[in-house]
Amino acid sequence: MAERLARLGIERVQDLLFHLPLRYQDRTRIYPIGSLVEGQEVLIEGEVEHAEIVVRRRRMLLCNLSDGTGRITLRFFHFSNAQYLGMKGKRLRCFGEIRRGPQSLEIVHPEYKIQSTTTVNTVEETLTPTYPTTEGLQQRSFRRLIALALAEVALLEDLIPAFIQQQYGLTGLQAALKTLHHPPPETRISHLLSGQHPAQKRLIFEEMMAHHLSLRKLREQARQLPAMTLGKKDTLCQQLLESLPFSLTRAQQRVITELRQDMQKNNPMSRLVQGDVGSGKTLVAAAAALLAIESDFQVALMAPTEILAEQHYQNFRRWLEPLGLEVSWISGKQSAKARRSQVENLLLGVTQIAIGTHALFQNDVQFRQLGLVIVDEQHRFGVDQRLALREKGRQGEYYPHQLIMTATPIPRTLAMTTCADLDYSVIDELPPGRQSIKTVALSNERRDEVIQRIQSKCSQGNQVYWVCTLIEESEVLQCQNAEQTWVLLKEKLPGLSVGLVHGRMKAEQKETVMSDFKRGEIQVLVATTVIEVGVDVPNATLMIIENAERLGLAQLHQLRGRVGRGTAASSCVLLYQSPLSRNAHQRIDALRNSNDGFEIARIDLEIRGPGEVFGTRQTGELRFKIADLARDQALLPQVQQAARQLLEESPEAAEKLIHRWIHRAEDYASI
Ligand code: ADP
Ligand code: MG
Repeated sequence: MAERLARLGIERVQDLLFHLPLRYQDRTRIYPIGSLVEGQEVLIEGEVEHAEIVVRRRRMLLCNLSDGTGRITLRFFHFSNAQYLGMKGKRLRCFGEIRRGPQSLEIVHPEYKIQSTTTVNTVEETLTPTYPTTEGLQQRSFRRLIALALAEVALLEDLIPAFIQQQYGLTGLQAALKTLHHPPPETRISHLLSGQHPAQKRLIFEEMMAHHLSLRKLREQARQLPAMTLGKKDTLCQQLLESLPFSLTRAQQRVITELRQDMQKNNPMSRLVQGDVGSGKTLVAAAAALLAIESDFQVALMAPTEILAEQHYQNFRRWLEPLGLEVSWISGKQSAKARRSQVENLLLGVTQIAIGTHALFQNDVQFRQLGLVIVDEQHRFGVDQRLALREKGRQGEYYPHQLIMTATPIPRTLAMTTCADLDYSVIDELPPGRQSIKTVALSNERRDEVIQRIQSKCSQGNQVYWVCTLIEESEVLQCQNAEQTWVLLKEKLPGLSVGLVHGRMKAEQKETVMSDFKRGEIQVLVATTVIEVGVDVPNATLMIIENAERLGLAQLHQLRGRVGRGTAASSCVLLYQSPLSRNAHQRIDALRNSNDGFEIARIDLEIRGPGEVFGTRQTGELRFKIADLARDQALLPQVQQAARQLLEESPEAAEKLIHRWIHRAEDYASI
């Protein structure tokens, strides 16, 4: 039993108490058969009026049950003769889901019990919980175990002091647990299922507090770790900036100063930089890299896709080689030989910076002296990954500084929970001269007009993206669709050079196409969403997005951000298949009306509700048991405040709270 429970993460009696039901059944009352409605899961009782074995397509036992108010059919496919004979003329109590059968309402394979006339048959006093379980552990055993644990609930310490409970309207812990395991009959099941019951609120609140506290603790701990101080000199950085045809925006300058201050400390920096698409994050990363390099340390820059990593590689070589520096390229797809030489250069310190995908952090990649790790465009980069990366980059007793960059705005309150272990900077300004992207929505029927428009754009020397989006959750289909579109556009635009890039092409092929597009040799690039993040070709001024109605706002905004990166006026055409759903309509409108990523994120939240926007992705990372960051985010400001109060009032209680909810707290602590 202990082994089975351990599979569910249950090791202590306390863990049993916090193992909450998934669903509930109401076995507290017997429903009159005449009142039943399809879809209900109910307890009924009645006399067997008729029972017979019939053979239709399958052999089955049909039984008519009546209680004077109505009649219902019980249908069994698996049954024994003894069962059939045993139920004739008896009084049965059944539990099951009411369905609509061919003739009448029915229950297929109800749980049933023959009622004897002599004993008194009682109903349950509370709703019956159904627990998440594992093989070999039945609901019945679970219920018994939990009942045993509940008998000890008085020993469980309520770690949230009474004054905090009062201030935020929280139920006491023991009462909340009793209610959730054994809800009184009048409890609305729908309330419980949607997480709105006050007993749930109490636990949600507590769990979110625990997470917040654990991230704060991580941050405190990180501040104790040793790191090398970097960035005393900034000659290289100045040289780079002077070589550019433009000057930094104030926001870029401010963020670079913040990064420099962090890196000058002898504890590792952990900073998240948010900046809308096109705000110039790459340059900020380059400045930070040069500050590290001038202190004789190496830098690792990781990008989420090959295309983006390759582009960074080109940019950094262009920027750094004139300064006498060398760049290594590490990719999962390069030949073993090429990789070996790149890795060797890093180890010897011949190269000062390594750029690549996550392949950068495989075991064979060793640095001579790594001082700074930069992670670009990784909004999915969770706390565990951040910790693992910090550990990976450790050089003896010293930890590298960490810079994480993202173009996906996270509302501040949410950032304070999902990223409470990080410091936070925003590049809240675009380079001067950017014109907002004119966005129009056109129905698919007007494709030919759009193709004409490509012709005229290109004849003015501009370049165009045509984005084929995911029609189904299949990369293969997406690529096939892109190939077909490519063939079609080549045919319809005979004077132009049309290129194709998608996720199933070889890395080298992709590189060739991308660099041809960059150099202007390809005028129209048909692409899948592989170009979603980071791709930077300022001369591209028109983007067409197919099936725009199927994409989320954030993704559309990211995609659209591939144009409007220079000073020329740019536009984006959202092709859609009518009729548009109300929701899709709102999304497309939002995009037409705004170019501001933060504003768009806000609208996204409003339209889709936080459930979809921050759904499983972020909560998955944080592994909440009961809380749902999306559903419960309105509680966040209160949770943060209560966490502060608890830390002041009783640091020991805060510590115990983390321990209660976060099993890997110990692992975190040892890092
Ligand atoms: P993102 O923040 O989306 O990663 P990039 O770093 O790719 O943006 O920068 C977008 C474009 O803006 C690039 O072509 C870059 O060279 C240019 N850029 C960056 N900073 C400035 C600036 N201060 N003034 C003008 N152009 C800039
Ligand atoms: Mg970028």
